Amino acid sequence: MLRLAVQKSGRLADQTLAFLRACGLSIQQSPHGLTATCPGFPLDLLFLRSKDIPEIVADGGADLGLCGEDVLVERGCEALEVIERLGFGRCRLSLAAPTEIDLDGARIATSYPRTLGRWLEARGTASTLVDLSGSVEIAPSLGIADAVCDLVATGSTLAQNGLTEFETVLRSEAVLFGRVLTDDKQDILDRLLLRVRSRLAAERTRYIVMNAPRTAVERIRTLLPGLKTPTISPLTDPDWVSIATVVGLDVFWETMHALKEAGAVGILVMPIEQLVL
Ligand code: AMP
Repeated sequence: MLRLAVQKSGRLADQTLAFLRACGLSIQQSPHGLTATCPGFPLDLLFLRSKDIPEIVADGGADLGLCGEDVLVERGCEALEVIERLGFGRCRLSLAAPTEIDLDGARIATSYPRTLGRWLEARGTASTLVDLSGSVEIAPSLGIADAVCDLVATGSTLAQNGLTEFETVLRSEAVLFGRVLTDDKQDILDRLLLRVRSRLAAERTRYIVMNAPRTAVERIRTLLPGLKTPTISPLTDPDWVSIATVVGLDVFWETMHALKEAGAVGILVMPIEQLVL
């Protein structure tokens, strides 16, 4: 049995459960809501406060953890390694201030004193850190700091508080991390990773099916990297075929444009649940 620590409540909690379900795990929460089992797969979930997750994994209370990379970096445990970046909960740890300032000698309010401290040290900047556990963005208006270092996703909270972002200290997203496991547990982790990686690959791709005149097939094939080669099936009209393949989201609209120019019509686009490579 493998034990995975996840956020109990908060910004990542719902997305974490949705992601695990999309990995084909069914999740049955215990009546008190502190743990869950995954019937059909040897994984237990442990629901914790984000900030406790790295430490509990490092101490052996859980085998794996899932939280924002910002928390993992801030709590910094040597024995823990990022296993997979999960693509949700994206944000950045940024410096912001009401006006342009010189960081040297400035007072910076943050809930990330270790991460910011290391970043400043690497730059040889001597600032004073004001360690706050929340509502960091109001510190300049209270006169207790000249700048803040806080998590930003859209920037709207900073803007509401009259702060302008001027430097990114860290980019973060939800990560799966862990420590060295016994062979038995590593075997379960490998099976979990097949699901996780298949889901991540699926999220980055779409399945497309289109009709095209036979005369366009060679041109269209050159436009489709696909997994190997596209599936080409005959249609009742002998001059036309149906072509099916997968396309990466990173090149999706360029590919759609090129396919249309090459003569493809009626391009159906479908989400993929899992892409097992
Ligand atoms: P919570 O415990 O609810 O505050 O969740 C905070 C976690 O959500 C952080 O550790 C980040 O990894 C992630 N996150 C994503 N976007 C943001 C954001 N705009 N502000 C704060 N946390 C964010």
